[in-house]
Amino acid sequence: MAKLAINGGDKTCTRPWPKWPITGDPERQALLGVLESGKWWYGEKVREFEGAFAAFQSAKFGVTASSGTTALEVALLALGVGAGDEVIVPPYTFLATASAVLRVNAIPIFADIEPDTLCIDPDDIERKITDQTKAIIPVHMAGYVADMDRINALAKRHKLCVVEDACHSWGSQWKGKGTGALGQCGAFSFQASKNLNSGEGGILLTDDEALADTCRSYANCGRGKDTPWYEHYLLGSNLRLTEFHAALLLAQMTRLEEQTRRRAASARILDEGLATIPGIRLMRPEPRMTRRAYHLYAFRLDRKVLGVPEDKFIEALRAEGAPVGKGYDRPLYANPLFQRNGDGAKYCPLSCPYYGRKIDYTQVRCPVCEQAVVDTVWVYQSPLLADDDAIRSIVAAVRKVAENTKELR
Ligand SMILES: *Cc1c(COP(=O)(O)O)cnc(C)c1O
Repeated sequence: MAKLAINGGDKTCTRPWPKWPITGDPERQALLGVLESGKWWYGEKVREFEGAFAAFQSAKFGVTASSGTTALEVALLALGVGAGDEVIVPPYTFLATASAVLRVNAIPIFADIEPDTLCIDPDDIERKITDQTKAIIPVHMAGYVADMDRINALAKRHKLCVVEDACHSWGSQWKGKGTGALGQCGAFSFQASKNLNSGEGGILLTDDEALADTCRSYANCGRGKDTPWYEHYLLGSNLRLTEFHAALLLAQMTRLEEQTRRRAASARILDEGLATIPGIRLMRPEPRMTRRAYHLYAFRLDRKVLGVPEDKFIEALRAEGAPVGKGYDRPLYANPLFQRNGDGAKYCPLSCPYYGRKIDYTQVRCPVCEQAVVDTVWVYQSPLLADDDAIRSIVAAVRKVAENTKELR
């Protein structure tokens, strides 16, 4: 008799998972308030949100942008990263971490990740630094904070900028300070799937006022601070957020602290439960990460112990009703964007002479990442808001599949 749901057995997780986004009266009031005020454009709500979110992450300044992607682009522009510069990035991330580098005509150089944090590996950063390196973009993957002590030390020694891709880390802290302003600046996203969401949106955080002003100029058509409206200083763009977005974000922020705690409590249950299942590998504890936000809860499958292909295991977990998925299915450099290697006359910087060196992304290898894209399982952020019993049912589902892999062979 089949036990596993994938073979017709009973499902382990039977209750519906929390829907995302979570919204109600505060959001309705906020949006109606802006609507009826007639003030829809880049004004006091945007400023209020920038201040509130910067404070939430213990940063001094916040500058909103239209997305996390454009926030990263603005950061690189404001730091003077451009043609011919190399920027070290991890390959286990969303495209924007590397595409922002290409958009400013600089060259992404991939450094591998650590197997038990999924964040960029400082040893490999060190190996990848050249005389053309200008910046490092660590990603706080899934909310796990990259080793900012070592990254900042490397940056100091080699005079590099550090831009955090903090697009998974609303609420994460390193030694008591929020992510975002641990290096020069950091970018957050408020896209619909993110823990803090206004459909689209982004912000840059920094403790450097001059840098904040430059970022704002790039995000607001190159305008100056308190200078005439039609006077433009920098080659910026229009990346402004609307008052609707800011009002919605302020309302969503009233839920963020409690949601952050709830997800962390769920992660503790998963950590404790999954640790006892052979073939399941967890992330490493990190005492310097004084608080961790969970955009995802990630764990890894050990095929040698489980004896079945990872995809089959994940398929069986999903059939049990577990809210899991495979996540990034390839290192970033395996995308056609990079494998094309700069063909096409207008594909700068790779097909333009700026760089002065040749880079062939088909030759790039980051073995730890190449294994992670095969065996990492993600539990998404919104199911982590479910109650303890529901979270325990995820553990039960993993245990059940792990104990019955013979049914999958
Ligand atoms: C979502 C995300 C971004 C970009 O955010 P958008 O707002 O969607 O442009 C950048 N980096 C990472 C790691 C992300 O997950």
